[in-house]
Amino acid sequence: LEEARLENHLSLLGEYTTSGSGSGCPLLIQRTIARQVTLVNIIGKGRYGEVYLGRWHGENVAVKMFSTRDEDSWKREVEIYQTVMLRHENLLGFIAADNKDNGLTTQLWLITDYHELGSLFDFLTSTSIDVPAMLRLVFSLANGLAHLHMDILGTSDRSKPAIAHRDLKSKNVLVKRNGQCVIADLGLAVRYEGKTGILDIPANEKFGTIRYLAPEVLDGNLNLKNFESLKAVDIYALALVMWEICHRCQFYGSAEDFELPYAHDVPSEPDMGQMREAVCVQKKRPTLPNRWSSREPMITMTRLMRECWYSSSQARLTALRVRKTIATLMATADVKL
Ligand code: ADP
Ligand code: MG
Ligand code: MG
Repeated sequence: LEEARLENHLSLLGEYTTSGSGSGCPLLIQRTIARQVTLVNIIGKGRYGEVYLGRWHGENVAVKMFSTRDEDSWKREVEIYQTVMLRHENLLGFIAADNKDNGLTTQLWLITDYHELGSLFDFLTSTSIDVPAMLRLVFSLANGLAHLHMDILGTSDRSKPAIAHRDLKSKNVLVKRNGQCVIADLGLAVRYEGKTGILDIPANEKFGTIRYLAPEVLDGNLNLKNFESLKAVDIYALALVMWEICHRCQFYGSAEDFELPYAHDVPSEPDMGQMREAVCVQKKRPTLPNRWSSREPMITMTRLMRECWYSSSQARLTALRVRKTIATLMATADVKL
């Protein structure tokens, strides 16, 4: 992969003809990598495809496979990964995309870094964590989201559009061996060019996962044309994921059991109506255990969650603000990344 990364780097420097928008290797190299990957076993299943562990020259990679029926999702996710300046330590690392046509069927592949600890959901289900581990997870998650949301202005090959994820949840975040998160599953993301005010695709109603939808999405009051409001939808979901992480944190005794947000308020596969009733009408939010209000850093963590899941989307914090506040908590507690 080092070789691939070098090629990637060179392509960013403009030494090769790139795939167009620049964050991936040249298409020919991507295809070459893809055809050298062997599949080992299935590791995950989502809405669109199956994810496999693969091997490439002795290294592990993850291969997300889409059926031709979902070609649009594959195209979209690949397109987002090819965004210039997207690469970041807290976003899943893209390696290559390929469509393998063998005459009968077409296999659509998306190859990324492989993370053996799996999704944050899997990780939290199987283990509880201490306070430093909690802070590392939350900081890195906010750091990844802040990078995604950020609009970097520069010359064309040094600027990055703002991106809203639109399907943030613990199953779409992976855990790295160093205890940091990477944000994955960019299939529903939309890009926004601040200079021109253009969304790269119309933000449609095809919004993420019902359980994690912000109140304004549930009650149909979201302004799809305003990019700030799309970021605020991600921030609401961030609050729910922060709660899932804190819920597994050993703080004054043992951790709580793993729970999805609203596990006691809605059925396991809630519909829009049930979710709207709980979140918009009854204004429920995940329960904050009493002991969290007794001492730092949980006092600040609960405040962050509340300020990220406000009903009023304009009142919510930004990812950058969350990151800064957690950085301060880490400095105070002498926790290193
Ligand atoms: P979908 O769009 O179908 O939801 P995802 O990209 O979310 O697909 O992947 C589905 C699941 O596969 C994830 O929740 C995770 O458990 C697993 N997975 C995906 N990518 C990786 C990876 N790079 N390393 C390890 N596990 C992964
Ligand atoms: Mg997913
Ligand atoms: Mg998806």
